[in-house]
Amino acid sequence: MGFTTPDKPVDVAALFPELAGLTRTAVRLYPRRGETTAQESSLGGPLLWPANEPWPVCGDDDHMADAGVPVPVVAAPLVSVAQFYSRDVPELPFPEGTDVCQVLWCPRGHEPYYTPRFRVLWRDSASVAEVAVAPEPDREHSDVDFLPNPCRIAPERVVEYPQLRELPSDGLRERIVAWEREQKWDYSEHLSAAPGTKVGGWMEWIQDPFRPDCARGHRMTPLLTVSDSEISGWETWMPMEVVSRIAFHKEVRFGLANGGTGRTWLGPDQELDPAVAGISGSRVVPESVVEVPVPDFSALPDELGVEFGGGNLYVFVCPTCPERPIEVEYQR
Ligand SMILES: [Zn+2]
Ligand SMILES: [Zn+2]
Repeated sequence: MGFTTPDKPVDVAALFPELAGLTRTAVRLYPRRGETTAQESSLGGPLLWPANEPWPVCGDDDHMADAGVPVPVVAAPLVSVAQFYSRDVPELPFPEGTDVCQVLWCPRGHEPYYTPRFRVLWRDSASVAEVAVAPEPDREHSDVDFLPNPCRIAPERVVEYPQLRELPSDGLRERIVAWEREQKWDYSEHLSAAPGTKVGGWMEWIQDPFRPDCARGHRMTPLLTVSDSEISGWETWMPMEVVSRIAFHKEVRFGLANGGTGRTWLGPDQELDPAVAGISGSRVVPESVVEVPVPDFSALPDELGVEFGGGNLYVFVCPTCPERPIEVEYQR
C-alpha cells in the first residue's frame, strides 16, 4: 500500500521566492507492521548479515539504569532499526561498491539523555552468500521501548523547506512570521519539513537546529530521522489514505460571558448546546463557538513501537569521508 501526502494548501515558494532555492527531497517511510526478508528494505526487519560475520554487540560503558532495566554487565546484541537497498532509496550516499545501508542500535539507554546508540553499516549485497539469523533481542537487559517492530516501508518523496529557525536569512524569517499572523497555517509545522520517520530532507526540529561537521570538517547531511510519532502537523502532512479511513471528532472552542475561554471535544455528530455548556457558572457566548475537526489519534496503531518521550532521533552522515562517520542528535 502506498501513501500520498496531500498537496499543500499554500505554495510557499510562490509567496517567498527565496525558498525555491532551498528545497530538499525527503523520503517519508510510513512504517507498517509486517514480515519482511533480509532481501528487502524495512524498518526493524531482518538484515542481510553474513553468516560468517559476528553479530554486533555494544561494548560501551555508558549505559544508564532505568526503572526495571538494570545496567547490563555483559555486552548484549544490537537490534535492527532499518535496512535500505539502493534500488529503494538511491538518495543515500552509498559508498562505491555498496548497495545496502544497515542501521542498528543498542536498545539500552546511553548517557547523557538515555537514548539508544546507533551504528550504520554499508555493504555490497552480492558479497553476502549465506545470511545470518539475528539473535533474539536481550529483552531482560534492553529497554523494550527501544525494540522496533518489524515494519514494511512505503517510500514517498516529498519536497521540503527548512523550518523557520533554519532559514539562512533574518529578513525572510521576519516576512514569514508576519505572514503567519495573517492566516491559519504555521510555516514550520505545516509547510516546511515532514514529521515522522524519514530519510534525508530537512529535519523536523523540536528544539534548535543542529548542524554537525565530521572530524575532518565536512558538513554532514541528514541520513535518517527515527520518530516515535507521525502526527505533528497532521492537517497538511497526514497522508490521504489515512485521512480517508480515520475517525474524526470535533474540538469545540468557545468564549465565556465572563471573558474567559474554554474548549471541549465532541463526537462527529454531536453539537455543543451553549445553553447547557459553560464553565463555573459562566455561560457560553454562542457567536464565539468554533469547531475544528481533529483525528482520533488513539485509533492510529503505533506501528514501529519505539518510544523516546515524544521525540526524534536524528542521524547525520558525512557523505565525503569514505567510512561515512555518523553523528546523532536527540530532541523532544
Ligand atoms: Zn549500548
Ligand atoms: Zn567527513
